[in-house]
Amino acid sequence: RRVGFAIVGLGHLSLNQILPAFGKSKYAYPAALVSGDPVKARKIAAQYGIDAASIYNYQNYDELAHNPRVDVVYVVLPNSMHREFTVRAAKAGKHVLCEKPMATSVADCEAMIAACAQAGRKLMIGYRSQYEPHSRALVKLLKQNKLGELREFISANSQNEGDPTQWRLKKAMAGGGPLPDVGIYSINQIRFLTGLEPEEVFATTYAPSGDPRFTEVEASIQYTLRFPGGLSAACSSAYNSHKSQFFRVQGSTGWAEMSPAFAYNGLKLRTNQVMDGNEVTQEPAIAEKDQFALELDHMAQCVLQNLTPHTPGEEGLRDQQIIEALYESARTHRPVKVPPVKGPLRGP
Ligand code: NAD
Repeated sequence: RRVGFAIVGLGHLSLNQILPAFGKSKYAYPAALVSGDPVKARKIAAQYGIDAASIYNYQNYDELAHNPRVDVVYVVLPNSMHREFTVRAAKAGKHVLCEKPMATSVADCEAMIAACAQAGRKLMIGYRSQYEPHSRALVKLLKQNKLGELREFISANSQNEGDPTQWRLKKAMAGGGPLPDVGIYSINQIRFLTGLEPEEVFATTYAPSGDPRFTEVEASIQYTLRFPGGLSAACSSAYNSHKSQFFRVQGSTGWAEMSPAFAYNGLKLRTNQVMDGNEVTQEPAIAEKDQFALELDHMAQCVLQNLTPHTPGEEGLRDQQIIEALYESARTHRPVKVPPVKGPLRGP
């Protein structure tokens, strides 16, 4: 059977990526919509064949409890609303798929994990890159030790944010600037690729005076993460640069890069290794797949087979701990230790 999802929030991501991805999914279907705009919700429901009786708003959201077609609630709201709508979904007896960043504080992430555990419901964070075939191929390559000892990870995820009034530039709603929104991809990628956790971080932030976009959040952040065994990550993320999304991981005997990385499509992986004494650069042919369809199908299969999601709440909490340590470092101009990991972070 297919697993029914309620989509909460009909903004850019829901309309342009998530709802169209159901068409490419094998195990998931859109069963309900939650929106503050009933006219928009009716139009989108008709477009995707969703019953008008399965349209909810933010007030009567809890009535999802009585809709047996909905197994999973997919929270696609501004970051500061993730906690409330995850906790209410769990209380309504639904599994939750929540967009990244998981929330705007470690305390909120912990409350979300606790609420889902208490309700006996699954919680997955939408780290689409971890379901994407290029990144998965690279994990395999690194596991086979093809680049030798890993030394450096260099990455940027930057873009231009125009509208100074949008929620992404409000600290209370976003939790920060480019770091939690797009910088998080660099942090999550190196953790996913290596399975290693940073021990200490350092960051500096910059906000130009007189730019109305950056009165509350940083325009850019440059940061380093130190991992056990001599691996370090040097990353940058900005809201006032042209879109640029890449990383390169450098080992003692080779490197691999994705550019673009973190994009919805058009991803490219290149590797460089010494073979028979020669430097050989390769671009493996990897078929592109819709990352959102892969993510929806993973959550659906977790529900159908009662599995722990590969990117559960603990994975989102970990990134939030690192983000908070980075902001503390930027504030104090000092390196900051990241709290040790308490238990397993990822499912199969
Ligand atoms: P958006 O601004 O386009 O949409 C947000 C939606 O929330 C809108 O429909 C808006 O009406 C609704 N909303 C409800 N209450 C609101 C309030 N008080 N203020 C503002 N909006 C309110 O944002 P988006 O780009 O769709 O992002 C939504 C979430 O998805 C964020 O958590 C974001 O980080 C995440 N996201 C993830 C990816 C990805 O690739 N995984 C990409 C983009 C966004």
